[in-house]
Amino acid sequence: NEPLEVVDPEIAAVLRDELNRQRSTLEMIASENFVPRAVLESQGSVLTNKYAEGYPGRRYYGGCEFVDVAEDLARDRAKSLFGAKYANVQPHSGASANAAVLSAIAEPGDTILGLELSHGGHLTHGMKLNFSGKLYNVVSYGVDPETFLVDMDVVRQKALETKPKVIIAGWSAYPRTLDFAAFRAIADEVGATLWVDMAHFAGLVAAGIHPSPVPHAHVTSSTVHKTIGGPRSGFILTNDLEIYKKLNSNVFPGQQGGPLMHVIAAKATAFKLAATDEFKERQLRTVSGAKLLADALTTEASRAAGVDVLTGGTDVHLVLADLRNSPLDGQQAEDALHAVGITVNRNAVPFDPRPPMVTSGLRIGTPALATRGFGDAEFTEVADIVAQTLQQSGDVDALSARVKALADAFPLYPGLEEW
Ligand code: PLP
Repeated sequence: NEPLEVVDPEIAAVLRDELNRQRSTLEMIASENFVPRAVLESQGSVLTNKYAEGYPGRRYYGGCEFVDVAEDLARDRAKSLFGAKYANVQPHSGASANAAVLSAIAEPGDTILGLELSHGGHLTHGMKLNFSGKLYNVVSYGVDPETFLVDMDVVRQKALETKPKVIIAGWSAYPRTLDFAAFRAIADEVGATLWVDMAHFAGLVAAGIHPSPVPHAHVTSSTVHKTIGGPRSGFILTNDLEIYKKLNSNVFPGQQGGPLMHVIAAKATAFKLAATDEFKERQLRTVSGAKLLADALTTEASRAAGVDVLTGGTDVHLVLADLRNSPLDGQQAEDALHAVGITVNRNAVPFDPRPPMVTSGLRIGTPALATRGFGDAEFTEVADIVAQTLQQSGDVDALSARVKALADAFPLYPGLEEW
């Protein structure tokens, strides 16, 4: 029972280096966040030792009386937070939640209709190398080439033409809200099941500042680690008992064996925190920060330098920078921001003229910085640093110093070494 430092100094160094990286840089990857100490405690707890195949009260292992309490709390809190009748909190990740959803509502060979990957969809919505693309007949809708918005007339037309078994609404890179009622009307018209993947915007939904898909979708899946800011994992909601039964058997034993009970306990805590006023206030800062960033990247100076924002702004926690007219491609822009201490990911823009490993866009998100404590003043400063970096109009050392000042002013996990 020696500490990690003694047992495995190489891995201890990785943990230390990563903590330092997170503390000293500004994290703007839209899908990332910082979990609270309470979540770290559960995830590093003895619950990791427990096998609990099955569901609370119906396990295939003895000794589950305490982990049952954790899973019941996680389910009840998820249901109450999102106003759903049923919840499955066992998926290890967003991708495994989605695999269970599809296997519950479609048969291999069925047609599924989702947002094109290169227009902001997710791998699990039909990418050809993913299980979803291999098992199902994938058809896609894209965004409008002028507005970059999802056009519900186009979705309806595609649905009428292709008669999908499943319609998927949800995204990994799209800066606006979707019309879930319109998606449901189309699903009803063609006899499809509507599945919403709210992985990215679930925190905004929980805070009541983004339309909820739950009343409209037959089934809603999500991750817990993006805007919610909980442990890396997934969950699924539905109001339909028949679908719920199928989901349960498709998560276990369909996709998974033993659930990760330390993660499920951490999910329960994340859902508890997501019901608080502090959480709502953080989500408001998140969206406000994204709007400030969009403002800074749509000024005349920005556009003159070839940097713009898809759809002209954002309603959510991320901005899609459009670099099609910029001398910097997505890779170079990602590297330029990295050089001043800001972490983002390059992202293809729809109809991207550059190859996927290079791209003409960046996805820039505000959830992690909002969790760190940033408000409008700090987001205005970050937005200016990002704008100057992308316009190549600022001195790298001066910009790096401004990033360091922000990071120092908002210490991350203070005292963690002593916890
Ligand atoms: N669904 C959407 C919309 C996502 O953006 C992601 C994550 O990128 C996932 C599912 C998959 O989540 P995970 O990485 O936990 O498998």
